[in-house]
Amino acid sequence: MSDLKDDISARRDVSGDDEAGGRLPARARPERSGMPALERWLTGPRVAGLPEVSADRTPPLLSFEFFPPRTEALEQQLWACIRRLETLRPSFVSVTYGAGGSTQARTHDTVTRLVRETALVPAAHLTCVDASRGAVDDVARRYWDEGVRHIVALRGDPSVKGGRFEAHAEGYANAAELVSGLRRVAPFEISVAAYPEVHPEAASARADLDNLKRKLDAGATRAITQLFFDVETYLRFIDSCLAAGITAPVVPGIMPVSNFGSARRFAEACGTRMPDWLVRMFAGTETDPQTRHMVGVAVAAEQVRLLQANGVDEFHFYTLNRPDLTYAIAHILGVRPDPQVETPKA
Ligand SMILES: Cc1cc2nc3c(=O)[nH]c(=O)nc-3n(C[C@H](O)[C@H](O)[C@H](O)COP(=O)(O)OP(=O)(O)OC[C@H]3O[C@@H](n4cnc5c(N)ncnc54)[C@H](O)[C@@H]3O)c2cc1C
Repeated sequence: MSDLKDDISARRDVSGDDEAGGRLPARARPERSGMPALERWLTGPRVAGLPEVSADRTPPLLSFEFFPPRTEALEQQLWACIRRLETLRPSFVSVTYGAGGSTQARTHDTVTRLVRETALVPAAHLTCVDASRGAVDDVARRYWDEGVRHIVALRGDPSVKGGRFEAHAEGYANAAELVSGLRRVAPFEISVAAYPEVHPEAASARADLDNLKRKLDAGATRAITQLFFDVETYLRFIDSCLAAGITAPVVPGIMPVSNFGSARRFAEACGTRMPDWLVRMFAGTETDPQTRHMVGVAVAAEQVRLLQANGVDEFHFYTLNRPDLTYAIAHILGVRPDPQVETPKA
């Protein structure tokens, strides 16, 4: 106790002997529009309540995306992540395919290990970059033979950063062609990519929407969106999807942000706008990872709860092989671990 008193008086000495007794002056309420505070609060915009998380409300369907690990340490991180998120019983989990098909073997190893060692439904991402139709079909056939039933079919980007996609002379020219090819290989479930903020190479928003429709008409049953932060943009996009005759789910792709710098670079590379409010939200957390993580959960939770309030009941999470933020957001959405799936020790 005496230590504590000493500590307090020492801090007073350091902070100076001013009128506030060593305290920082309290922040004053700013003058806003000259209106008394309560009147201003009660005349501002009204926001309807967010949906209740009640025991009888069906929790949303979740899917999780992982990337294939490059090193032994990253492999362990990935599997710890898979084991933690497995308890939430996702509808499927997907494994990406590096740009230019650079991770083909690692993607394959991760997907087949998921088949062998877990009860999860794996989806293998597959692209048509730098490969003939025959080679892509062979990869797909092998997946089918190994028990994989779901493919995320993508055109892909070239391995050279910023380079333009050139179809292989004997390859699939785009994702719609790839979907048709996969349907000829086996009756896979197929998901494709959608772009609420328009794919950077698309001639127009309308042309991009027509392309999405072609992919679904070719046999895909679900679209997963590129990451986005602005809920309004996504809601306007699914409005236009419906108006264009699309009825398959266009599942929002949510990226909980834990490292703002790399999230910003990633968003830039794929043409996703980073709103000013988001930049402000993370400003000052550069050297404070704990606060940054909490802000990350809060931002993504707000995003999914708003989507949930607007009727969306399916979410795809870009986990970046880190489970904690996604797990917390799933909890907020009302998803609880299945007691029948063994929970790994933290
Ligand atoms: C959920 C998701 C997962 C992803 N996973 C991976 C991954 O694992 N590996 C990877 O390398 N990349 C991945 N990507 C990125 C993706 O490969 C790139 O965005 C790529 O540039 C486009 O792929 P796509 O399948 O959307 O292509 P497409 O649907 O073929 O479209 C590509 C562009 O061409 C245009 N286009 C297509 N067909 C026509 C046509 N007939 N006439 C005119 N224009 C046309 C489209 O409008 C669009 O601008 C992913 C993206 C998303 C959203």
